[in-house]
Amino acid sequence: MCSDFVKPLLLWYNTQGRDLPWRKTKDPYRIWVSEIMLQQTRVEAVKGYYERFLEALPDIDALADCPEDELNKLWEGLGYYSRVRNMQKAARTVREQYGGKVPEEKSELIKLPGIGDYTAGAIASIAFGKPEPAVDGNVIRIVARIRALKKDFSSAKEKRNLTEFLRTLTLPENGNWGDLNQAFMDLGSGVCLPNSSPRCEECPIMEFCTAHKSGIEMDYPVRTEKKPRRIEQMTVMLIRNGDKLAIRKRPAKGLLPNLYEFPNTAGILSEEEAVHAAEAITNLEAIRIKRVPEARHIFSHVEWHMRGYEIIMTPGDEKYPESDLIYAEAGEIEREYPIPSAFTAYAKYLNIHLGKKGPSYK
Ligand code: SF4
Repeated sequence: MCSDFVKPLLLWYNTQGRDLPWRKTKDPYRIWVSEIMLQQTRVEAVKGYYERFLEALPDIDALADCPEDELNKLWEGLGYYSRVRNMQKAARTVREQYGGKVPEEKSELIKLPGIGDYTAGAIASIAFGKPEPAVDGNVIRIVARIRALKKDFSSAKEKRNLTEFLRTLTLPENGNWGDLNQAFMDLGSGVCLPNSSPRCEECPIMEFCTAHKSGIEMDYPVRTEKKPRRIEQMTVMLIRNGDKLAIRKRPAKGLLPNLYEFPNTAGILSEEEAVHAAEAITNLEAIRIKRVPEARHIFSHVEWHMRGYEIIMTPGDEKYPESDLIYAEAGEIEREYPIPSAFTAYAKYLNIHLGKKGPSYK
């Protein structure tokens, strides 16, 4: 017999599930791309990127062979670039070790770079119909509420227990785990909401929900204290040399490796200090400096608090030998150089649209 809440949940999904581009295919590569993009990014934001990415890189070979700058440009605006770097590493592994075919089993998928427990379960179940749960924040929240579980799901042990519980669920004869996992995703994002009150009156499994019966939905899941983020203050310099702007490549190691940025320095500089800093890295003379809006960017463990200056230099030599700066016009930066969204406020100020235009290659 099918487990109590599973049937109504699947029925609801089959009639009211979201119509998303990656649900029109069973191609494991496409499902994999969507699942990686959906990690840490909202569905609405992913839609446009998904189509564009697959148009440029329609298969495993294209992804495996894509040059780094072009790959980063396709990802520009999505953030967490390690996702796409790992996806490329994994594509190369799939080509070398699996004959170019995405492996079907969760136990194999999980060995690939960037594919964790959740993503492996999602790909195995959605693309290959394997009976694998995919436990993410949505599943944790929903199950914690329907069973009123006062557990700390940040612990690996509790997450494992939850996965084992899900494995005991029986599905109706015509049901499959791909649909059940996606039903959890849809219920979690549209009905059993995390921060605002859940919309229990619209919930297809309300009658099975222990927390709802007691009116204590918001007590679940139990929240664990997070470590506060480290604050890093910095000054960003929008340096103009004639009709070009200065950018530079970030180091290959550390945060946002190999992406491009507007020159910046640690700490908050005064106008005078910013002029000195700009002159030192360009070997040009500053004519004018203007304060531009401050900006913040939140990474998972760090927050950047940025002060910005636009600095106009006397137009001059672009090839100062001690400098790592590249001078490019705004349109060229928009087309060719992947700039992380941490700098969106400054790109906007310069009329550079990040993540909007396709790369200039095909
Ligand atoms: S009844 Fe409410 S709390 Fe329970 S699963 Fe449904 S939406 Fe979530």
